[in-house]
Amino acid sequence: MLASLRAPTRFAALLALTVAGACSPSSTRPDEGAATPSTPASPAAAAKNAPEAAGSALAPYEVLAGDFHCHVNPPDSPSDVARGIDETVELAAQEKLDFVVLTPHVPARFFQSSAQRKAVLDGQKNLQKALAPHANGKTIFIRGMEYTDHAYGHAGVAFGDLEAVLSELDARTLGGKPELFFERYVDKGGLLVVNHPFSTPLESTVAIARANLSWRPFTAKGPFPSEIQALARLAQGYEAYNFAITELRDRFLLADSEHSISRILARMDQESVEKKRRLIPVGGSDSHSHYLRASTFVLSKTRSQEGIREALAAGRVCVRSRDACSLEVRAGEGAWSALGSSVRGSVVEARVGGDSQDIELFVNGTAVAQPAAGETVKVQVPADKCSVIRARVGEGYSGGVYANCDLAEGG
Ligand SMILES: [Zn+2]
Ligand SMILES: [Zn+2]
Repeated sequence: MLASLRAPTRFAALLALTVAGACSPSSTRPDEGAATPSTPASPAAAAKNAPEAAGSALAPYEVLAGDFHCHVNPPDSPSDVARGIDETVELAAQEKLDFVVLTPHVPARFFQSSAQRKAVLDGQKNLQKALAPHANGKTIFIRGMEYTDHAYGHAGVAFGDLEAVLSELDARTLGGKPELFFERYVDKGGLLVVNHPFSTPLESTVAIARANLSWRPFTAKGPFPSEIQALARLAQGYEAYNFAITELRDRFLLADSEHSISRILARMDQESVEKKRRLIPVGGSDSHSHYLRASTFVLSKTRSQEGIREALAAGRVCVRSRDACSLEVRAGEGAWSALGSSVRGSVVEARVGGDSQDIELFVNGTAVAQPAAGETVKVQVPADKCSVIRARVGEGYSGGVYANCDLAEGG
């Protein structure tokens, strides 16, 4: 479908509306019925993921496909987001999404203002009410938000107990110590993800492409306020795949759809090694209009919000295409283990399932092997240093497996 969009006027219109979806502070409402691009990340593209090989580590898990970054009106403003909750539910069913994380914008430091706290809480309550009739559908809707700081960057915030955090920390307390908000949110089960971290401004006739949506702790010099430092310290993951940015900004304006993904994964690998921390990649449509996309895939023990949260926290996640979730590794004659796990040894065996002819294995970002599907390959890693192993399968990327890393507590 992308080929049909190459006519300049059509493309310009599409780019404007869809990249505008990438968290523009002043997005315009897209036209009704506008075409949306297809993506290779269709869940139907790789329906089979049942472990076939003997002793597979994947047996306890089901692959759940979701969209981790999705705006919705309300609570998002109708001038910014064209899609309401009913359409969101319908689209999620059409796209066969197992889960959608709803991430309406919330303003920077909203927790310091009584009026903004009330508006955010009311928005969440109304969302919960609107979703209640759909609780038994196939799609699990997870309430989250996109913390939107125009000066420092955006973060996906989900799975925590927002009501409890705000009831424990009043506006005055957070006025003095805003970092407590994120610390307490994580304590209460929350997941923090830095969104579109390298979306720096481009010279372009497309207005939104000129906006700086990057995570300033990565792209600018500090000092940074204490809550931004807390977010940088506590974030468990980065948005490696943002549909609008990868498939439109990077693909068309930079002629390199791997531009952001590869930089973000490289940054994650480097940080994981330095800090001995597990960091997860997530993916989302960042849709403000009439489409959603399967873009985050998790190996979940149960079909539930808690199952999804646990899988993410454990690092059993891949982005853009589900096939990369089939990476398994083992050291010596040990048992195979899945994404997110830790192994020890100087030679690690790895294999990827499915039937793709386009598989690559990476160690700390360097390609080391191109196995066939189902083929077991040996990967050399330094025994005395942390290495992150990941797979690319087609256009999708896996989370890491950690070799000789001694991950920090909770990492
Ligand atoms: Zn954003
Ligand atoms: Zn967004």
